[in-house]
Amino acid sequence: MIKNILSNKCPNCRTGKIYKQKNFLENWHKPQMHKSCTHCGYVFEKEPGFFFGAMYVSYAIGIIEAIMVVFAGTFYYENIFNYQIFIWIAVVLISLSSFNMRISRIIWIYLLKDI
Ligand SMILES: [Zn+2]
Repeated sequence: MIKNILSNKCPNCRTGKIYKQKNFLENWHKPQMHKSCTHCGYVFEKEPGFFFGAMYVSYAIGIIEAIMVVFAGTFYYENIFNYQIFIWIAVVLISLSSFNMRISRIIWIYLLKDI
């Protein structure tokens, strides 16, 4: 399942693609989604505003990334509460924002697949 999420596969048939781009490196702007699966026709956006809930998944991913930056910062800074770590957290979160948006929507689709 994690492999299917990371490889942008449809949760229903595990063959079709959710996003038009193969990976998040192909687009740094807003990722382009298919309306429905190109293979089985599974509709990804079940209702208007469906992806509003993906914001919570994105928030959780952002927290995990920030914790990883703080953890990595412990190797470089003697004091763990160095203010420079906030700059690094901002740089990492901004540079990964396209990836976060993409992966959070895919996870949201997988979480609510059977509802
Ligand atoms: Zn499908």
